[in-house]
Amino acid sequence: MKKKKIGVYICHCGGNISDYVDVEKVKNSVKDEEIVFLATTTMFACADSAQKEIENDIRDNNLDGLVVASCSPKLHLITFRAVADRAGLNPYNYVHANIREQCSWAHSDDKTGATEKAIQLVKGAIKRVYESEALEQITIPAEKVMAVIGAGIGGMRTALDLSSNDIEVYLIEREFFVGGRVAQLGELYNTEETGKELVTRLYNEVKKRKNITLFTGAEAIEKSGSIGNFEIKVRINPRYIKETCSTESLEKAIEVCPVEVLDEFNYGLNKRKAIYKNYDSEYPQLPTIDMDNCTKCGECEKVCSEIDFSMKEEILPLKVGGIILNTGFNSYEPKKGEFGYDEIENVITLPQFSRLIELQKDNKNFVYNKKKIKNIAYIYCVGSRQANIPDGNKYCSRYCCTSNIHKAILAKKYFPEINNFHFTRGIRTYGKQEVFYDESSKQGDIYLQSYIDHLPEVKQNGNRITVKIIDYLTSNKEMEVDTDLVVLVTGMVPRENKDLVNVFKVPLGRDGFFNEIHMKLRPVETVIDGVYIAGASQAPKNIMETMSSSSSAAAAASAVLSKGELSLEPTLAVVDPDACNWCDKCTEACPFNAFTKVEHQGKQVALVIEANCKGCGMCLPVCPTNAIDLIGYTDNEVESLIDGLMQQDK
Ligand code: SF4
Ligand code: SF4
Repeated sequence: MKKKKIGVYICHCGGNISDYVDVEKVKNSVKDEEIVFLATTTMFACADSAQKEIENDIRDNNLDGLVVASCSPKLHLITFRAVADRAGLNPYNYVHANIREQCSWAHSDDKTGATEKAIQLVKGAIKRVYESEALEQITIPAEKVMAVIGAGIGGMRTALDLSSNDIEVYLIEREFFVGGRVAQLGELYNTEETGKELVTRLYNEVKKRKNITLFTGAEAIEKSGSIGNFEIKVRINPRYIKETCSTESLEKAIEVCPVEVLDEFNYGLNKRKAIYKNYDSEYPQLPTIDMDNCTKCGECEKVCSEIDFSMKEEILPLKVGGIILNTGFNSYEPKKGEFGYDEIENVITLPQFSRLIELQKDNKNFVYNKKKIKNIAYIYCVGSRQANIPDGNKYCSRYCCTSNIHKAILAKKYFPEINNFHFTRGIRTYGKQEVFYDESSKQGDIYLQSYIDHLPEVKQNGNRITVKIIDYLTSNKEMEVDTDLVVLVTGMVPRENKDLVNVFKVPLGRDGFFNEIHMKLRPVETVIDGVYIAGASQAPKNIMETMSSSSSAAAAASAVLSKGELSLEPTLAVVDPDACNWCDKCTEACPFNAFTKVEHQGKQVALVIEANCKGCGMCLPVCPTNAIDLIGYTDNEVESLIDGLMQQDK
């Protein structure tokens, strides 16, 4: 039924619109149209008082269509749909005209032109609302189950919060042990706790929860379906050790293994066996065999009967309502020769330095490469803020200034005779972490600072390593420090997640981290409904920030899934079976697998799977028989919108 009584509201948006668009003229141009019952301007349409007025107008006048001409629908489409709903008008009989981003802001140099354009946009909206239909949201059942990918501290936090909200969780970790990078850390800043202790606390809590199932050595390899009803396949890689094995015989097995390789957990500072765990209290408390290095010599089998080389990988199908990616980060690996890395002895990275302190903290002297360490030079922003490198990382990694200063304080605490020299580009120990900068300065650490165009130079002079800087803090004096150890304060880079990205199709930002829909308005949601991101998979974050975003992703997912059903937008494609001849072109065009083939009066036709359809409209133009329409954007509505846009004032 055509809408006969339409209310039109044209917003000043303070002066954001009215400074560049003559809103009175816009109102006067449409107020006498036959189907317009009332047209008015308003200072702030989104203000509570204005919303109340619109509600009252709809109710008092029995309006059957609403147009609000204001800012972007991204900001306030939902606001005014809610206004319509509260007033008893179907929310889909409301059309939003964007006269700010698309008009006043875009044409601020041409008030006459902007006003003409605004008039046409409003006329288009009026014509479209005239053709609009009252629609009801679609409700589908949804699994109250989430898959959380990554069992670092962030993934475990997410799993615990979901579990507390009565949502079942599959916690899926690619490594054979939980805890991610934080398990490698000693004492953490802003707490006396160590990384291992934090991991242990979270793991113990996870194990207590009946509704969390943890898979380690597990990777998601396929995903289908859509929000509320995803099907994922998880590959569980074999550990080659049975769970029933006793700690004693496993320790013997590790002892007799003849293979030794560099230990990645300690960044190559020591060696480990082919059968290994990273540290004694590691979880799950069962070692694993690294098949890339195991020679299958059988020595371990002789002392431990629970080792089983016949174990095979398993593929597990899981049904989940949503997915949270919390896959963490990698540390930047400097290039050969970058500040002497991999060329000059005793140039190491921050993660290596952190492990070195951990491994040596109980010793009398601080030693690296058999050299007693007295002077340490720290070079900041390695792999971050690389404005001078074409494909460099432009972002600040945020956590590394604080982390490094904290390590320098720890190093001085354990080995009081050392001297710390910080070669910075401006320290960023923001927020609660600023106290560490203060503490380090008070303990006598020296801070020097350069710009990007004068980065510090590291040189080997015989037995000595020197670091030189043009120091901005002393009016560009050239300073040189003899040092025994150079620590490159490396930042965060995205994890190598290519397979996972292919499975989940989550877009990456220019920096290679997962991209949220909107940093401020929808910070943990992705463009794939039901797939959320959290922690350092999204951007460099410290532990506190990782925990906050992990809880926030859990809250966002719980809000959607906790009822066990989902309301979907009714703007879906629909096929007219009489016009369809099943040419299959729509299936190829649809990015969401929303078409299936069915039988209709003796012929095969396309049918839209409502839960999968996102109303993107990709299938419409490819259909050769025009058999597909989009509810909410029907041909009638779009054509009348265009008529309105083309309509000129007499
Ligand atoms: S954190 Fe500090 S060292 Fe790192 S990128 Fe930012 S400013 Fe740098
Ligand atoms: S493109 Fe059109 S005709 Fe072809 S199968 Fe899809 S709906 Fe049917």
